[in-house]
Amino acid sequence: MVPGRALPGVGQPGAARFIDIGINLGHDSYDVDRDAVISRAEAVGVVQMVVTGATIAGSRQAIELARSRPGKLFATAGVHPHHATELTSDSVSELAELARRSEVVAVGECGLDYFRDFSPRAAQRAAFHRQLELAAGLGKPVFLHQRDAHEDFLAVLREHRKNLTAGVAHCFTSSAPELAAYLDLGLAIGITGWICDERRGAHLLPLMREIPADRLLLETDGPYLLPRDLRPKPASRRNEPAYLPHIASAVARARGESIEALALSSTAAARKLFGLPGDDPPRELLAASPASRYD
Ligand SMILES: [Zn+2]
Repeated sequence: MVPGRALPGVGQPGAARFIDIGINLGHDSYDVDRDAVISRAEAVGVVQMVVTGATIAGSRQAIELARSRPGKLFATAGVHPHHATELTSDSVSELAELARRSEVVAVGECGLDYFRDFSPRAAQRAAFHRQLELAAGLGKPVFLHQRDAHEDFLAVLREHRKNLTAGVAHCFTSSAPELAAYLDLGLAIGITGWICDERRGAHLLPLMREIPADRLLLETDGPYLLPRDLRPKPASRRNEPAYLPHIASAVARARGESIEALALSSTAAARKLFGLPGDDPPRELLAASPASRYD
């Protein structure tokens, strides 16, 4: 699929609507054509996006983007575990000031990443604790990142869980027991184009039916994680939100449901979790629209 090329039914009134809950839209790879990236996403039914903040500067930039497109773009404010040393007792107040803004719908991304270990693990845990406290204080949900750190991640999260309103385990790529543990904690689950990778993502397919519809969210995590099975293969390795319907079709197939049903449930779930305003056409219109499959 070529980004921007309209798929049948997409973009029409009553057509499937999607929310990309994890897009690193401030990434410099989008500097040359960010407006076009947003337009291509809109053209295929991506009606809202949550722009990920992964550093204090990046969170500031995500907020600026959200301010430029009110009601369409929203931001998270947080410090990714890769940058955990950035979050000192001084800078946490700066992050708190950002996270308080109305454009910010979640604190994060925050969590633990022992796969890359770009920051010392003790610093990662400290930054994670601080951000969970911040989210609890603000009553905002958390946008969570975890890689190869499941046990410590759960331990930290369990300490704070009762104070947190909600959260999403973004870019879930793990196993059934980890999924069960997250669901048990009441988390929503973010699914990316990892599921489109026939080598690394096949284990995710049977897990899709285990996720309750009201807790399954979709994300591209662009510019990262370009779906591997796009045909024709895009010239660029850069992922973008216009590929979200492609990811949705893989998830819908794995769940044995229509893409329209997944679009409705995942959009409602994202709006509920992040408190996003709705822009849906009347339900009758959706019900009357012809069923289409565009996978
Ligand atoms: Zn992440």
